[in-house]
Formats: sequence, C-alpha cells, structure tokens
Amino acid sequence: MNKFTVCTNCVMDTSDSSIVFDDKGICDHCNNFYQNIEPEWYTDERGHQKLTEIITKIKKDGFGKDFDCIIGMSGGIDSSYLVYVAKEVYGLRPLVFHVDAGWNSQIAVNNIERLVDKLGLDLYTHVIDWEEMRDLQLAYFKSGVPHIDTPQDHAFFATMYNFASKYNVKNILTGANYSTECVRNPVEWMYYQSDVIQLKDIHKKFGSRPLKNYPLTNILWHKVYLPYFKGIKVIAPLNYVPYVKQEAMQLLQEKFGWQPYPQKHFESRFTKFYESYWLPKKFGYDVRKVQYSSLILTGQMTRDEALMKLSNLPYDESTIHQDFEFVANKLGISIKELQSYFEAPNKTYKDYASQDYIYKLGSTISKMLGLEKAGKR
Ligand SMILES: [Zn+2]
Repeated sequence: MNKFTVCTNCVMDTSDSSIVFDDKGICDHCNNFYQNIEPEWYTDERGHQKLTEIITKIKKDGFGKDFDCIIGMSGGIDSSYLVYVAKEVYGLRPLVFHVDAGWNSQIAVNNIERLVDKLGLDLYTHVIDWEEMRDLQLAYFKSGVPHIDTPQDHAFFATMYNFASKYNVKNILTGANYSTECVRNPVEWMYYQSDVIQLKDIHKKFGSRPLKNYPLTNILWHKVYLPYFKGIKVIAPLNYVPYVKQEAMQLLQEKFGWQPYPQKHFESRFTKFYESYWLPKKFGYDVRKVQYSSLILTGQMTRDEALMKLSNLPYDESTIHQDFEFVANKLGISIKELQSYFEAPNKTYKDYASQDYIYKLGSTISKMLGLEKAGKR
C-alpha cells in the first residue's frame, strides 16, 4: 500500500502522499495537465491574438499615466523573460517592482539592473523591515512546518497588492506560467503562502516582536475584493507566448548579459538553502521533481534526463556547510541553534490555525468556472 512508486510518465512519486496513479501508472499531475491544461493552452497565433487583446486593454487602462502595469521581478528566469516580452515584444510601459527581503543573491541584483537599464524602465524597490523579517523567519523555523519560505513569498505578494491598491494600478503582470510550472508543489510540501491567519498564528506563538511594517495580505482581499470590486487584475502573459526555458535564458544572456542560476528560485539565497537542503533533507520533499516534471510534460526535458539529475544530491555537498553558516549568521543565531530546529519534530500546516477551508472552497469554485487549471492540491 505504501510502497514507493514513481509515475511512469513524469518523476513525481509517493513522497507526494496525495498522489494518485491510474491503471497505466500515470499520476494525477500528468492527467490534470493532459485533461485540463494542454487542450486550452495556445502559444501560437491564437495565443498571440488573445494576448494582443489583453495588452490593448492594459494600454487603455494606463493611458495618460506614468506606467500601464506593474511587474514583480525577482531576477529569476520567469520574471526576467516576462519583463523583456512585455516591453520589447508588446510595447508595454511597465513599472518594474522588486521586493528586497534581505536574501538577494548578487546575480539577482545584477540581472535586475541589467534588464531595467537596457530596456530603459523604471525600477521601484521596496525593502522589507529586516528585523521583522528575521523574527518572522525564525518563528517559521521554530514552528517545524515545511513551508518556511512563507515570510518571503507573503511579503512579495502583499507588497505588490498593497502598491496596486494604493495607486490604483489596474494590471499586475506575473511570471507564473504553465511551461515551467504546470506541476505545482503539493500543499503538504508548500502550504499557501498567502494564508495570513497561519502566518499570524505562527508569529504569535514563536515571534518576539510585533509586525508593524511587514506587509500583509489576505486571500479574500486579493482574490475577491481587488479583482471584483476594484478591478485590479493579475495577468500571466507567458501562458500566451512560446516560452521555452533554455531559449529564453539564451536570449536574455545574449541581449542583456543576464546570468543563469543553477536551479529555479536560486535567486534568493534563503530559497536556495530551503529548497535544496532543508525541504528534501528534513521532510523528504524534493522540489526538483515538481520542476522537472513540468519540463517533461511541456517537452523541455526527457524523463531519463530528469531521473539522472535526481540521482545527484539536491544540494552541493562542498558548499552546504557555508550555506548553513550563512543562514544562521544572517538570522543572528548559532549554527547549533539552527541545527536544533532541523532536528526538531516535523509539523504540518494542520498543526496551526489556518484558512485552508477558504483555499479549498476557492479552488473548487475556480476549477468549476475554469479559472484555475494548475491548482495546488
Ligand atoms: Zn506524472
């Protein structure tokens, strides 16, 4: 019953405890892609047509204003390519929005500067209050849950929604896409980062200073109030254009001197440590399986290639000690203290207050209406 099993089509396996296989041994992530995403995903002329309509509307909304949309940019491949497509291909005038949570790699900083400079765009950087960030991140370590990247992610989204709301920017462009993200991290691995009830509960139990400046959002506010009452929409343009990761990276390197990362999300030093070491070593959740499975389904990697890559450790053994030390130092704790959190019992999102019923209800409704196709489960 609990035998370790790998999907015969992608590389997801029973380390995702909710995975379901059909009689051919193909998993529900794959079947969701074939049934719900692929049939309605067009990056040819039809995608271009649709995106052109959307862009026309965005330009109309932004007429007479300093910019017509905002794009959150981390310096990673998805958001960098999006900035290029929006400005160079579709002629938008985006304000590039960056949230600095204290963990930017030097490569990320360089990538953002190079793109913004060469495209002649304006960059708005919001710096998160470091003492509060540090306190919240420590609280997550102490809580024992797997989704300890929540403080960064929540801050990224909340800052952007707050900005859009405050300045009445109608269109937020996101680098979210099917091409590299059609398989999503299971909720058990990475619980919803926008759940403010959970964030506050964990902070109340393990934090040591009030969150005065840390930006907060709430699912009902950003998923219902902002889009349906204030007309602020989140758009994912990369789903309408051909987006092949290797080709996009090459283009950005040639045009802008953009530098690639060894793995998705490694633009943040915290996320690199968390996704390559903490999550797989402490919990057995290896996000490379999700990322490679997406690339397999969209024809950008073979299953054999993915299995070969997965046979290597998810982290670099020669530098992991330095990474561990860097994270402890930056958080202002000893290596021993960080190690003690690593060894503490594992918890789940269910051990703390949450709004998971709202997320589940929202996901059911979105799927019924066809609004969400690559939802988490
Ligand atoms: Zn599969």
